[in-house]
Amino acid sequence: MTFRYKIKCNTCGRNILVRFGMGYTEYQECEFKCDQCSSDIKFSITAKPPQAIIDYLENCSYSDFQDSLFPDDNKKYLIKNFHQDFLSTKKDGFFYSVLELNKILEKRFSYSGSAEGVLVANFTFLEKNWRIVKQAWQMKNNNNNNFIEDVLKKYESITIEGVCGFEDILFDFNNTVLAPECLKYNKIAEKLVQEYKSKKSKRKEFLKLMEYYRDNLMVDHMEKFFNIYSDFFDLYNDFRPFLMYTNHKLDINLDINIANHNFHRTKMFYGNLYEAYTSNIIFISLLHNIHKGRRFDEFCNLTLSKYCGLDKSKKTENFKNTEMFIFFDDFLTNKLRNASHHGNIKMIDNDVLEYKSGKESLKRYTMHYGRYMQICVELFIRFVSLLQLEICFFYIFNKKIKSDLK
Ligand SMILES: [Zn+2]
Repeated sequence: MTFRYKIKCNTCGRNILVRFGMGYTEYQECEFKCDQCSSDIKFSITAKPPQAIIDYLENCSYSDFQDSLFPDDNKKYLIKNFHQDFLSTKKDGFFYSVLELNKILEKRFSYSGSAEGVLVANFTFLEKNWRIVKQAWQMKNNNNNNFIEDVLKKYESITIEGVCGFEDILFDFNNTVLAPECLKYNKIAEKLVQEYKSKKSKRKEFLKLMEYYRDNLMVDHMEKFFNIYSDFFDLYNDFRPFLMYTNHKLDINLDINIANHNFHRTKMFYGNLYEAYTSNIIFISLLHNIHKGRRFDEFCNLTLSKYCGLDKSKKTENFKNTEMFIFFDDFLTNKLRNASHHGNIKMIDNDVLEYKSGKESLKRYTMHYGRYMQICVELFIRFVSLLQLEICFFYIFNKKIKSDLK
């Protein structure tokens, strides 16, 4: 459903027609720069079916100008098209947006009746479910387990039944974030499990690895996962269309209108994610050692403590040529990480970023903001997949310990 709002920039008086396509979310903030005076404009839309209410948050208010029938041809006022779930281009205006919406809907219907269809359907609960998962996760971080079960009862999903523990729910939640591609990503775990099951020596190393993980890595990893998830879902309105396009394998045209310009917040995301990702990636490196027939802590030509002391950008080098693990080496760019981490990144033009990186003298690079958001989402997807592997293997490990105790 599309709504039209006539607003104006309070700084320079520029009239703006906002055409807003409502998606699944009840509340959405939109932020952009006025094309006439470059001031930031911010408003929010709240769904109150059959209506959607606008609230003027910063530097804008209602304006009573003539909204012509074919506004795409008119130069008298600025037109901003927004949609919560898909990206509309600047050039082709609203009709193009309708085509984009069709692409997504077609993709979605093509899953109906399949496992992918079930997973995609959970997407409607994602934001609400995040609030529940977050609350339970915080309780877990604080070692306060008394109310977790009550909190988790509110979790809604069509792929889960009965009473479930935190890890089951987190696994299900992650599958929704990755849907429908999660089926593909979970195959990596499946293959590794088969491999470790089939050889006694590998099974022994796997159990040693999981003991090491439980005693040395798990608490720290879970904290890092939690922090990045919190950042991501705080900025979910910004990331959502990119997540949607990436998960549905749709190309992102960079001549797009970006509904949310929370750039002052998104610009740090890649750097923070890169730091957390390259810390937690040790889990993949250790799995890879076993895959190669070595002890879990025996690298090709490194000791474990040497590996831990490596520069972050070198943490994936040990496995980047092994096909099963290549996926976890994608979308890591050290230049962008340096710029994002040290705040050397700015918006120079509408939707174009400039970032600086280098050891002695800083070199300048440019990148479209849409591309930046896409890279963030791609790496986040890998981060979520990594957590899936950790949950999955820890579950197998615990089951084994319990059966040994019997
Ligand atoms: Zn203005």
